[in-house]
Amino acid sequence: MPVEGVPLSGAVVELEGERVTGLRSSGPASVDLGDVAVVPGLVNAHTHLDLSDFALPLAPGKSFADWIAAVIRHRTQAGSNPARAVVDGIKEIESTAATLLGDISSAADSRTALETSSLDAVVYREVIGVTKERAEASWRGFESWVKNAALSRRIVSGISPHAPYSTQTWLFEKAESNPACQIHIAETREEIDFIEKREGPIADLLQKLGFTDTSSLANSPNAIVQRFPNAIMVHVNHLVPLHFNSYRPAIVHCPATHAHFGRNRFPAKQWLDAGFRLALGTDSRASSANLNLGEHLENLMCGPDSLDPATVLRCATLNGARALGLHADHGSIRPGKLANLAVVPIGTREDLEAVISGLAHPASVLWRGKWRKSEGLANPA
Ligand SMILES: [Zn+2]
Repeated sequence: MPVEGVPLSGAVVELEGERVTGLRSSGPASVDLGDVAVVPGLVNAHTHLDLSDFALPLAPGKSFADWIAAVIRHRTQAGSNPARAVVDGIKEIESTAATLLGDISSAADSRTALETSSLDAVVYREVIGVTKERAEASWRGFESWVKNAALSRRIVSGISPHAPYSTQTWLFEKAESNPACQIHIAETREEIDFIEKREGPIADLLQKLGFTDTSSLANSPNAIVQRFPNAIMVHVNHLVPLHFNSYRPAIVHCPATHAHFGRNRFPAKQWLDAGFRLALGTDSRASSANLNLGEHLENLMCGPDSLDPATVLRCATLNGARALGLHADHGSIRPGKLANLAVVPIGTREDLEAVISGLAHPASVLWRGKWRKSEGLANPA
């Protein structure tokens, strides 16, 4: 399933080192994988590895502000160990079909652990702050973090102004020139009520946290989205294509988080038809039971406005790679790209829908030309 190009039956993928060098429709091969589908490694475009220490996702609560407060309590509790959460999150994702990640880094820098993992990634350092002091401290943290970016050979460093209700607008402005940027936006109605009218549960939460002056936060989601033609917009549940004028940035939908909060069906087709590149993510274990993107795809193929399986596969691979700016190396099986492949047993069903369902439990994963060693994956002989 090369994604770029039609599926090939009985095909041979040629490899040299960590790259694909050829794709043949038939012929002899040095390894016969049997009755399987070979799919590009999935791209989990949005996660928070440093929140991987939840056995179960946090209950949605009465309001989204309740859930945010629970995340803050978790992060500040004694014994909280975000660095260990990063390692656990990486280990979990290494047992899935994903080979490329977009990770939001806040409480722990995930770059060092990712560097020794069998995953490629763009790590977006979060900047956040309702007050001037907090926003400035966050910016200083970003500046010293970015200085260490060169330490990483494979891992790309980016920035993530958290969200319009938590982050002063000047921090968004600072992020404008960064080519790797992710923003949480319009996730809930509460967020819109707060940004536009300074009311509702988010206003109450900020009051309770002692943030009485919110005048340096944005007053409309448009003010943010129209500044960032190249950033990745995450969630966009309460925006429509019109909000973006002629811009068509990549957007990320996180199906498991969406279901966890019991939200209305995400209009994936509407965004795709309007020309947006839709990528997919797992979000964190604070709102998703696991970090297995392959397990979150099935729901997109059923119900009203469902996507056809080929589109779902494209969203989970090539669109994600494009969103992260790494499509020259990732997202499809093509000569010149990295040999990042997921192998899915197809059994008696050979349709693409069955292959996508099978991505929840790949038999094996090839990462940069080598079989990935992980519990739950079996390397071919
Ligand atoms: Zn997120």
